[in-house]
Amino acid sequence: MRKTWIAALALVFLSGCALFEPEKASRAPGIGGDPEQCLADLRISGTRFETMADFATPDGCRVTNPVKLLKLRSDLNRPATMACPLALALARFDFQTVQPLAQQYLRQGVRKIHHVGAYDCRSQRDGKRLSQHGLGMAMDFWAFELDDGAILKVRDDWRGNSPRTTFLRKLAEEACRHFHLVLTPSSDYDHKDHIHVDMGPWMRCG
Ligand SMILES: [Zn+2]
Repeated sequence: MRKTWIAALALVFLSGCALFEPEKASRAPGIGGDPEQCLADLRISGTRFETMADFATPDGCRVTNPVKLLKLRSDLNRPATMACPLALALARFDFQTVQPLAQQYLRQGVRKIHHVGAYDCRSQRDGKRLSQHGLGMAMDFWAFELDDGAILKVRDDWRGNSPRTTFLRKLAEEACRHFHLVLTPSSDYDHKDHIHVDMGPWMRCG
């Protein structure tokens, strides 16, 4: 009995490690991945979340395999509703990129990620196409709170020569390993104060 329990624990541990193998980061599935596998991977990713029923709105927004993400390894400033593939990509992004880069450039961890939402029923700026936010496949970050309480804001720290700027720039660069599209203050004026990441069909890095 004890052996079975230890074997089960070892399996969970090993699967957890496998989930975070760097080479798997680039294989993050978008829409169309196996919903059950996504939830299973998310359960061993160190996040806290609640599952939800699929939903759709009359104006065309819809989220398949939605979850309410409560926590990554880092805290979130508030829970966020999103499709499972995005939550899984965020879990990997936090574990593989955000925390190591914070240690490397700022000598401490990130304790809270401040976002301005994931699912949000709206169209893109051109008003023609549904935003990936309307599918629960996009998220916007505006700040990163460090272990010592300091808050790095994309609006204030994107430009300059400080380690904060290096951290944010590297973070956006490496985000491309986890997400399909990454937009920053360097992309356009609409993103002057946040970093947008999504798992949609378009590939673009910064
Ligand atoms: Zn966005």
